[in-house]
Amino acid sequence: MMPDDPLLNRGPTPLVDTFGVGNLKCHALNAGTLWLDGGAMFGVVPKPLWEKKIPADSANRIPLAMRCLLVEHPRGLILVDTGVGGKETEKAKSIFNIQNEGEKGATRLDDALLAAGHKPSDVDFVINTHLHFDHAGGNTRARGDKIVPAFENATYVVQRAELRFAEGTDQRTAAAYPRQNFEPIRELRKWLTVDGETEFLPGVELLPTPGHVPHHQSVLIGDSGEHVCFLGDVMPTSAHVPVSWTMGYDLEPLRTMESKSGILSRAAQENWLLALVHDYNHGLGRVSSERSTYRFAPIDFGPDSS
Ligand SMILES: [Zn+2]
Repeated sequence: MMPDDPLLNRGPTPLVDTFGVGNLKCHALNAGTLWLDGGAMFGVVPKPLWEKKIPADSANRIPLAMRCLLVEHPRGLILVDTGVGGKETEKAKSIFNIQNEGEKGATRLDDALLAAGHKPSDVDFVINTHLHFDHAGGNTRARGDKIVPAFENATYVVQRAELRFAEGTDQRTAAAYPRQNFEPIRELRKWLTVDGETEFLPGVELLPTPGHVPHHQSVLIGDSGEHVCFLGDVMPTSAHVPVSWTMGYDLEPLRTMESKSGILSRAAQENWLLALVHDYNHGLGRVSSERSTYRFAPIDFGPDSS
């Protein structure tokens, strides 16, 4: 697998997967691609096992999507996570082979939003699973020499403790939390912080799923008995479905295992649709449990199948 493979560099397709959850219209948006070290993505899992799931390039990197979830909720348009955004330096873009420029808007997320029928100023709420650069980088954008919120009319929502954690990083955690993704939002008082499990809007639940970072959250959207859960980095790809397959990036892998096992057991019992942030090929699917393990079955809705 080569990073200059034009098929891969076009990014995960389609740009938008549209589907219904009860009466809610939802869209999985593809905000581009990045390549991360395969070993770091699979922690202590030996390479001969993980490379059968996702082959690596000559630099040992694997292609990952940066997927976001858009929900047309009666109380406003909700965007969950914002990809890497457009402020990365050329150096960072080449290290991670980030492919996220837009053709119509500034970023591929702008293009995906547009393809779903919306523009950035339509977004009422941005919910971040956590504030790592590949999930919150699109929170802000450069305007002249200023960094401003990318969704000018949005309230931004995150766990209060995650915002505090991002603001007080140490030598291990600092690189993943560039301050330009959250400080401009604080300056304009656009953060709405929550504490623990919260029903943020009717049918929009914020579920703490700690482990990747101590205050990571997943977002569960429900209507008329149907659900979609945006897992965030508690299970970044379908290859991470075995509970013990955690990332080297996880600060607390044992807690990731607890969080994943809890959320997958509910997902299997209640037949949730799962939205996967980093899976290159499968953005959506369901899990079933077989004895003590889980099996992931992808679902392809196709481009704007509503
Ligand atoms: Zn991530």
